[in-house]
Amino acid sequence: MKNLEIAWTLREISDLLRVKGENRFKVRAYNNAARSIKKLKEDITTLRKKEVLTEIPGIGENIAKKIEEILDTGRSVYLDELREEVPPGVLSIISLPGVGPKTAGLLYEKLQFKDLSELMVLAKDGRLRDVPGIGPKTETNILKGIEKLKKNMEHVPHGLARVSADIIFELLSSFSLISRVSLAGSMRRGKDMVGDVDFVAASDNSHKVMEILGEHPHIRELDIFHDNRAKAFTNLGTKIDLQIVKEDKFAAVLHRSTGSKKHFQQLSALGNKKGINYDGNSILKNGKEIIVSDEEGIYSAFGLPYIDPELREGAGEIEAAKNNSLPDLVDIHDLRGDLHTHSTWSDGHGTIEEMVQEAVKMGYSYLAITDHSQSLAVANGLTVGRLMEQWDEINYLRKKYAPFLILRGIEMDILRDCRLDYEDEILAKFDIVIASIHTGFEQNKEAITERLITALENPYVDIIAHPTGRILGRRPPYEVDMEKVIEKASKLGKTLEVNSSLDRLDLNAAYVRMAKEAGVKIAINTDAHGKTGLRDMEYGVMTARRGWLEKNDVLNTLDSQELLSHLSRNRVGVR
Ligand SMILES: [Zn+2]
Ligand SMILES: [Zn+2]
Repeated sequence: MKNLEIAWTLREISDLLRVKGENRFKVRAYNNAARSIKKLKEDITTLRKKEVLTEIPGIGENIAKKIEEILDTGRSVYLDELREEVPPGVLSIISLPGVGPKTAGLLYEKLQFKDLSELMVLAKDGRLRDVPGIGPKTETNILKGIEKLKKNMEHVPHGLARVSADIIFELLSSFSLISRVSLAGSMRRGKDMVGDVDFVAASDNSHKVMEILGEHPHIRELDIFHDNRAKAFTNLGTKIDLQIVKEDKFAAVLHRSTGSKKHFQQLSALGNKKGINYDGNSILKNGKEIIVSDEEGIYSAFGLPYIDPELREGAGEIEAAKNNSLPDLVDIHDLRGDLHTHSTWSDGHGTIEEMVQEAVKMGYSYLAITDHSQSLAVANGLTVGRLMEQWDEINYLRKKYAPFLILRGIEMDILRDCRLDYEDEILAKFDIVIASIHTGFEQNKEAITERLITALENPYVDIIAHPTGRILGRRPPYEVDMEKVIEKASKLGKTLEVNSSLDRLDLNAAYVRMAKEAGVKIAINTDAHGKTGLRDMEYGVMTARRGWLEKNDVLNTLDSQELLSHLSRNRVGVR
């Protein structure tokens, strides 16, 4: 992760220089350096050892020195100085609509606000329009932008927070002062959007742990509360909440801080009936403390089997635990392949062969190549002529990589007027057809629902991809009667997708559970547009687990033969 941190630091220097109105060549130099480090395949520490830093494009003597300083000391004095001159709040307004670095610098120079909240107050008072070049309209836009930004800052997509979470977890795990550490909170429960990233660690020396953590270059700010609790901001803007406890309290505090509140309350209420008093710190049975070393111990004190974090939402899981009917949740290792991926034939950036090689490396038995269909010209959708050429390539690779199975698939657009993007005689030739909506999001509920239903009714369509069209943090789902879609899928034996892309996670957990209850199979797919995207599978699995899915509920846990017969069974008159 060193590369990312260095890139981030240089990027911040560039942004701060821009706000200060510095020479634009200098601004650009830092920005270019940041970009080129982000793209590096090799570890920057290795390059430094080989003394070849200046051979990286965009890195001259001066910037190379700054990088060495960060690698040696964990900080950049230059950056610290810049931060003194420009407060962090100013930096965050650069991304607002209508505010570039120049305007940001100007606003700061004239109004001297400290952070976003102060700027918001000024905007509400109509003080922004006093600044030359800023009219009432821009002022309103800035105000709207800040409100949105503040909301976004409170919750970020899981995948985004995960980058910081992984860095911090790795760091805390490496401390010899810490005997145990775990992710907690909503992130551990696998929620799609998260606020703080919570950690619980066991140590006898919380003070020292905080001290070392505060020094880490990935941590921008660290506030310590009550000696054993710290809130920190990472360089990537993620909020970290760390609790450090003594070893004997670890399990209970981890359990409490994982939540959810509702789950905890329901468990406590159950305890009350059994003479157990549980406050999230200690468990007392008839006044005597029960020491537990792990969460299994906590549930067993209540006479219950272990409940997976993804289920702890107070949505029937305690009832299920009592009846011994908890789901045996699907696991990432249960998956045998990926049924939604793109290649350079449409808008992907990996060749089919690269995608296949990666899938083989991941231990999969099959991969469906599902490039975009002809109408999606922006994504280089496949005309019938190009399809034939693609199939030639797939047929060749199929032989080369057998018995690994490459499925000739398509992600077919469902057009605005319910038409599908190919005639049935073409659809009949695919091994798998997934259908999805990429246009006309503004249509009303009836129209969108009708489009999805029409697609399901086509005998060649196997799966509906990203069924609600949402983009986390950016675009709400389109209007759709998902209950109706689920009912139709159930009746026709069709599959719905959990799209694992970091910014989609679509279907969401609630719909997944609804689909399961209706007997609809779910495919967990990555929609990868390159080989690294194939690794996003874990996020889809996390969402599926939150939807109570077991191995048997998931289409792509079938082996190749089972999958093929499942698909052909669903396709009348084919094969
Ligand atoms: Zn799509
Ligand atoms: Zn796709």
